Amino acid sequence: MRSRLSVRFVQLAVSVALAALSGCGPMPGGSRPIPQGIPTRAEARTALIYEANLHQGPEPLRAFLSDFPKGADLHVHLSGAVYAETLIRDAGEDGLCVDKTTLTFAKPPCRGNLIPATELSGNIDRQHQLLYDKLIDSLSVRSFVPTAGWSEHDQFFAVFDRMSGLGNHAAEWVDEVASRATAENNQYLELMQTPPFSHALEIAHQIGWNAKLAQADPQAFVQFRQQLLDNGLRDEVAAGRNAALQAETGRRQLEHCGTAQATPACQVEIRYLWTVLRDFTPEQVFAQTLLAFETVQASMNAKDDTWVGINLVRPEDDFVSMRDYTLHMKMVGYLHSVYPGVHISLHAGELAPGLVPPEGLRFHIRQAIELGDAERIGHGVDVMNEDRPRDLLTELASRHIMVEINLSSNEGILGVDGDAHPFPVYRAVHVPVALSTDDEGVSRIDLTHEYVRAAIDYGLTYRDLKQLVRTGMEHDFLPGASLWAKPDDFSATVGACKGETPGGDSPSANCKDFMHGSQKASAQWELERRFREFEAKFQGPAFDRLLHTH
Ligand SMILES: [Zn+2]
Repeated sequence: MRSRLSVRFVQLAVSVALAALSGCGPMPGGSRPIPQGIPTRAEARTALIYEANLHQGPEPLRAFLSDFPKGADLHVHLSGAVYAETLIRDAGEDGLCVDKTTLTFAKPPCRGNLIPATELSGNIDRQHQLLYDKLIDSLSVRSFVPTAGWSEHDQFFAVFDRMSGLGNHAAEWVDEVASRATAENNQYLELMQTPPFSHALEIAHQIGWNAKLAQADPQAFVQFRQQLLDNGLRDEVAAGRNAALQAETGRRQLEHCGTAQATPACQVEIRYLWTVLRDFTPEQVFAQTLLAFETVQASMNAKDDTWVGINLVRPEDDFVSMRDYTLHMKMVGYLHSVYPGVHISLHAGELAPGLVPPEGLRFHIRQAIELGDAERIGHGVDVMNEDRPRDLLTELASRHIMVEINLSSNEGILGVDGDAHPFPVYRAVHVPVALSTDDEGVSRIDLTHEYVRAAIDYGLTYRDLKQLVRTGMEHDFLPGASLWAKPDDFSATVGACKGETPGGDSPSANCKDFMHGSQKASAQWELERRFREFEAKFQGPAFDRLLHTH
């Protein structure tokens, strides 16, 4: 964890930012805290112990937060979540070579500079250990130092190219992230994955693009969608559905779920987001997005508990991402009108001044929600550079659009952290926010790391942390109504569970019925149960003594 900021300085920066904004009228929400009900005695004690750990620094705080219930991680790229050690092992299993010069994987035969990846396993000698170390550095941001012409942004995205050539290890990778999640008391993941789409690309290329489509003419979109379907676009839906189904079946086998040997990772619920690669030609992005909507819709119709939504990936500052951004948002918006049940989270505002021209910073988040119908925004880092930022923040808050906050990733890729990051501004104006990891394997972090970092850098209270966790569970894409009566208000449960203790052992029949019909509410109840379990640990004389010394 590299960033250390004075809390007072950050608070000052936020009040300055808010004062500047409120010069044009009151901000939404103001300083009123998000309602979370009256703290129980157990919560109040836990909060005191949290404060004691917070003031002792990152290591004691990490130990305290390691099993703090974290609810969900909603922004996870599966291939970026896997640690390099796993990728090297996989390369060995796939019979690939390691290029000693470029520190990438290569196809056999392994001759000259290429050695079999299997040589980097088992009892390896000193020379191989050095290569192993260098390869891990090459497949992550470990030990990374920027040099002229090679920034952490470049290193970060290069990792995904360097891992190309690996076979399908999805089940094993999902098991790795689920096992890590359960060890951190995280119960739910939405994993971003791109299933096969080469047929869609081919059809789109054959049909081609035209001037009306380039202008996002609605009739042209209708026609193009139909042409793609008529030419067999749906042929790839089954492969996409299977990709997620097989990953789930496979990881459940690895975890022995449903048997006496079931590992704790079985308890982690996982859903998938179909991620469109946006650095293709417009017709190919349209075809991929259509395939994404079709696949997610088919999966939702079958209630197979895998695909729940879509997202767009690849660097937002890339040439094509920047050139076609508005067009992409219009495509997503149009297709959402055809498949309104499919959820949408969009990477938007993963930009910073200097990375792109100022004009490029002015509209991505707004268009993602107004044209692309995004229910959640990934990153949203450049929000204060958008046109009329105050109005945009008001819109995000009033429409309850959540921003997925990825602090370590943003520091690494964009160089934005501390007071330069809009996280405290979002919180101050009640835009819903939750912490996520983005690419924990590439960044060499985990979700606990992000909580420790947020707590220290922004002086968060124990209640603030619970609010972040509850917000994530409020905005996940699990089907069903929320446990909470009002959006982003965690003080009162819905009518069916009114007056009950959330997470309690014996919900009423009414409440049970309600949760039976809502995966979202059941997961929220489970989160509350975990909070109660966590907070119950801090009772007894040993903690009384600790509290008296603080
Ligand atoms: Zn991301």
